[in-house]
Amino acid sequence: MQKFDFGELREIIEINSWTKNKAGVDKNGNIFAKWMDSLGYTLDRYSREDIGDHLHFKSTHKEGKKLLLLGHLDTVFPPDTFEGFREDDEWIYGAGVCDMKGGNFVALKALREVYSKYGNIHNIDFLLVSDEETGSDDSKHLSSALAQDYDYCMVFEASGVDDEVVIGRKGVGTFFIDIEGKASHAGNHYTDGEDANLELAHKLIELVSLTDLDKETTVNVGKIQGGIGANTISPKANIVFELRYTTTEEKERVLNAIDNIVAHSHIEGTTSTLSGGIQRDVMQPSPAQEEFVNQINRLCQITLPTEKRGGVSDANIISSKGVPTLDGWGPYGDGDHTINERASKKSFGERVSLVSEIFGYLIEDRV
Ligand SMILES: [Zn+2]
Repeated sequence: MQKFDFGELREIIEINSWTKNKAGVDKNGNIFAKWMDSLGYTLDRYSREDIGDHLHFKSTHKEGKKLLLLGHLDTVFPPDTFEGFREDDEWIYGAGVCDMKGGNFVALKALREVYSKYGNIHNIDFLLVSDEETGSDDSKHLSSALAQDYDYCMVFEASGVDDEVVIGRKGVGTFFIDIEGKASHAGNHYTDGEDANLELAHKLIELVSLTDLDKETTVNVGKIQGGIGANTISPKANIVFELRYTTTEEKERVLNAIDNIVAHSHIEGTTSTLSGGIQRDVMQPSPAQEEFVNQINRLCQITLPTEKRGGVSDANIISSKGVPTLDGWGPYGDGDHTINERASKKSFGERVSLVSEIFGYLIEDRV
């Protein structure tokens, strides 16, 4: 295993890159731009005002398969909540060290290896987005559009505990239902009212009943609000709920059922409107993805361990566009989204050598 110099990783870890800290996210991105420039990459910068710029680094393109590498520049930590870089024999500690500055760093190191071996890099591009930790609301449009140009995608979120790559992630959507009723005095005009709260109660139970644990579909009504006070029939109520699912079939089942629940009133006179929607579609294992894994196994003479995860990443976006996508190419780490975030030093070297081997096969047009 190669000896690793973590000095450059330290440089980017020490920059606060909270999603809302545009200056910090851009600073992280600009350091990457300098590194990628020295590998012959050109940069398409997607400038943004309120969040960091998205950076699309492009190599030269030739006939053959094209690979997109994907990472994000932002972290979940506001300034002064989790700062600095610390290491011991086994671990590196710091904001984003596994989620996912460390992963971006693995991609960079692997690109450097192939650059020094082949003298140039072609057909491997790298997209770094700036808003993954807040749901990729802006970058998902860019990622989806760019996905069409690629045959494969590798995402550099953290590896599994036994070096697994991720082949499946649940899809997630957030929804809101606003219920309109009619207020009236609960004593004098009880029957004149149209009770939005009671309508909410019916809908809540119907929504939660869509959960199917055998199929790993969950509907959670996480927040409800309604009414004015004890002596008024409630004129307004609203529901905030979340859907998570593992197949497109289940997504469609639940979306249709939600439409029916919203359209049908139990309390005469109440009306309901639905807003929100799917945030990140499911990353569903596919035959093309399995073939990608098989090719890696054949070429690298390994058995790549795989796993599914409940949490979402930008892999969901690319994968749902039909691009064979594997996530989890970053180092192994734990404590992400907490001040105990750390990444295993050993796993950096192991990931870089495997990933650079895969890049090499792609450059040789063998994948
Ligand atoms: Zn994260």
